[in-house]
Order: sequence, then structure tokens, then C-alpha cells
Amino acid sequence: MRLDEARRIEGQCLCPVFARSPLFIARGEGMYVWDDQGRRYLDFCSGGRAVNALGHCHPRVVAAVKHQAELLLHTSNDYYTEPQLRLAELLTRLVPGTRAFFCNSGAEANEAAMKLARKYAKRQSADRVEFVTARHSFHGRTMATVTATGQPKYQQDFTPLLPGVRYVEFNDIAALEAAITEHTCAVMLEPVQGESGVYPATPEYLQAARRMCDERGVLLILDEVQTGFGRTGKLFAYEHYGITPDILTLSKALGGGVPIGAMLAREAVATAFVPGDHGSTFGGTALAAAAALAAVSALLDEGLADRAASTGEYLAARLSALQQQHELITDFRVIGCMAAVDLAAPIAAEVKTYAQEHGVLFITVGDRMLRLLPALICTPAQVDETIWVIEQALDAVAVTAAHS
Ligand SMILES: *Cc1c(COP(=O)(O)O)cnc(C)c1O
Repeated sequence: MRLDEARRIEGQCLCPVFARSPLFIARGEGMYVWDDQGRRYLDFCSGGRAVNALGHCHPRVVAAVKHQAELLLHTSNDYYTEPQLRLAELLTRLVPGTRAFFCNSGAEANEAAMKLARKYAKRQSADRVEFVTARHSFHGRTMATVTATGQPKYQQDFTPLLPGVRYVEFNDIAALEAAITEHTCAVMLEPVQGESGVYPATPEYLQAARRMCDERGVLLILDEVQTGFGRTGKLFAYEHYGITPDILTLSKALGGGVPIGAMLAREAVATAFVPGDHGSTFGGTALAAAAALAAVSALLDEGLADRAASTGEYLAARLSALQQQHELITDFRVIGCMAAVDLAAPIAAEVKTYAQEHGVLFITVGDRMLRLLPALICTPAQVDETIWVIEQALDAVAVTAAHS
């Protein structure tokens, strides 16, 4: 299939919810993807959205998927399967004192977290049902998680939303203090707001959130769907803050490119669920669990969280040098392999298009921000290539602007 045919089929057969780049991806390997013409691109967004932390088609993930596909693809959660149980052992070893629930996506992991928080809190008091979330957060697209997402643009056409969600300014301790009441069951936060532009929580903020939740009998849910599994230079972003959540949600990088989500909850919280309370047909299915087991094992064996930390330092140094040369860059934020670059003018789409035409892929936020999410296997030379392309793009866009 080629790009023109893809666009024709999309125009006729797909719900028009995605604003796709004019790029047909036929194949991927490591840091690279190839289009329908055989052209190679440096993938600086990990398959678009921070999913392929190990790069594309990591051999251990591919081998595990092949092996599992020949053994057993799926059976329901009415029965035991080894990959799911081994994955649960591995994840609860990485986050001690927890139990796991498996699902298929980030939104579903957050749905599970919200349902569990309500069930747990209702046992203490029947009207402890509210959630506090942050403005500019992103928690997913289902009705509950789009409500939790503190961005009206994702919500306005889908009202009425889930009752009982309050929004606070991120990193504002006093606002959080004021928003938590005797009706609050959980505070849900991203340690680093990813989708809205790589804004890390301050240590004081997350530590205060942890303390307030403890003092007031409220659960702390950390959404690490994007930051989990080494993305920020630690295995989980909460490790930067010296706190632990009551409930942790994970997805994107978990399956090494295969869809899977997980919610990990502290033992006492997790056991508020009883059989029948929650479920998922495909959650933790053999194929996805086998992929995740291989992906997380590879990530640990290859020390990719540490590698993401050093790549982040190098990327920050390069962006800092670029900012000094280029007045079009007003600010940037880097935490591990998660970075955003703020631009002085609404040129993000042009920069992205230029980079794509010159063989480098990344994404944008709004019209003035670039978002860079390389796989954790990224090398310094690949950082250099991306910085070079951004520099060329900014020069080209500046010239066009001067002539128009
Ligand atoms: C991507 C993302 C989600 C939603 O995940 P889906 O798999 O698209 O449902 C939730 N939370 C965060 C922080 C995310 O980055």
C-alpha cells in the first residue's frame, strides 16, 4: 500500500479523529522507520507517543511474540496463563507491596484506578467519591478519563462529564490543599505532564501532595502511562521525588509496542476489589503479557533508564546551545528522553514538516511547541542529527517568514 491509497481509504472508511502526517510507515527497526517508498526516518517520538521505548521491533519482544503466538494467543481471565502471572510477579517486584490489574491501554488503567479509589474510599465513608486532578493534565479519552483530563478542549463536546472531579492548578500546593475535602477519594496527577508539554511536578508539590493525602485519608494516584519504564531517566518518575503512590498506572512503553496497560495498587487498596468488581476481556492476555514481559526485561537488562538519563543530559546541553544561537527558541524542558521546545512564533507545524521531509520525526503541541520523545536506545549521534535538522528547519522558516 502507498500513501495515496491510504488517504483514499481513510477518507472513506475511518472515523476522522486523527490529524495524520502525510507519511505511510511500512516498517520499523530500532530508532528508524521506513515509508512506502523505502525512505528512512529517524523516529524521535518513539512511534509517535512514547510507546517504543526499546525502539521498533526489539528482537526480544519480537521473539516473545512469535513464541507466544504459536503457543496460545488468548484465553479469558477465567483461567490462568503463565505470561500474565510472570508479568505480575515482575511488576510487583519493581513496585514492591502492590498488586496488579491488567488492561489494554492507558485510559483503561486510569479507569481501573478511579473505580478502585471509589470502592476503597466508600468503605470509609459513602460520600468520599470525588477526584482532584490538575489543569493541563492528560489521563485519556474515555468518559471518566476525559473528565479527569483538565483540558476543556477535549471535554466540551462530550458533556455531561463524570460528576465529582475538581481541577487545580498544577504545582500549586495551596490550591491542592484547598481542593481536598472530606468528599475526596483520590488525587490523580502525572509526575511530569507529558501531553500538554513536558511540565514536571516540583519536588515540593508531589511531596506535599503525598503528605496531604496521608493526613486526610485520600489516595494518591500517579499516572505514569507516559513517564513509566525509564522515560524520565528513572524506572518510574516518582523515584525522582522520594515518594510512592497508592495507585500507579502504566501503559505506553509496557508492551514494547504491543497494547497493554496495568494498574498497580498498594496491597490494602488493591484488595478493596473483590471478584466481579472490575474486569477486562483482553486485559493481560497471553500475547500482550508475553510481549510486556520481554520488553520490561530487556529494558532492565539493557539499563535503559540510566541511558535515558544521560541522553537527556546530552539533549539538554545541545538544546541549550541551540537556544543561544536561535531567538526562535524561547525555552525548553528536558527530563530523560522526554523534551519540549517552546518557539517564539506559531511555526511548530512548519518545523515538524521540514524535519519530516529531511528524515526526522517528532510531534508538536499546539502551534508553538515541539515535543521530542526518542526511544531510550537513542545515541548521542542521533540527538545531534535531530538538533541539526531543527536548526536547519528554524533557519528555513525564518527565511520564509522574512520574505513573506
Ligand atoms: C497517553 C496517555 C494516556 C492515555 O493512554 P491511552 O493508551 O491512549 O488510553 C493517559 N495518561 C497519560 C499520562 C498519557 O500520556
